[in-house]
Amino acid sequence: MPADCLFCRMASGEIPVAKVHEDEMVFAIRDINPQAPTHVLVMPLAHVASAAALTEADAPLLARLFAVAAEIAARDGLDGGWRLVSNVGPDGGQTVQHLHLHLLGGRRMGWPPG
Ligand code: 5GP
Ligand code: ZN
Repeated sequence: MPADCLFCRMASGEIPVAKVHEDEMVFAIRDINPQAPTHVLVMPLAHVASAAALTEADAPLLARLFAVAAEIAARDGLDGGWRLVSNVGPDGGQTVQHLHLHLLGGRRMGWPPG
């Protein structure tokens, strides 16, 4: 784990943060700068730099990330739908270099994204 990774430091508890979900593989937090009424970040406990670093061996992790996102969407009552986004690299708008899914919902999303 990179010592300076913000989300690794949250995963380990070094930086306290309210977790809306935590299991042995993934955890989820509410985004500090929400872009929708529901804006949750779902991510692995173990460091993965971005979606670009994933391999076939990560299939169980990916399944868990998606299943947890769906659970939180249901818990937050996002019956009208929701969006998952994972930014990769500078052009993708990634600002924290630890893989995370943005779960966005509670308002109508535009397309194409900015
Ligand atoms: P990215 O830009 O890498 O796709 O997403 C990183 C997200 O992390 C941003 O939406 C940003 O608002 C969020 N974020 C950055 N620092 C913190 C923090 O200290 N706490 C929380 N809860 N979210 C953060
Ligand atoms: Zn990390």
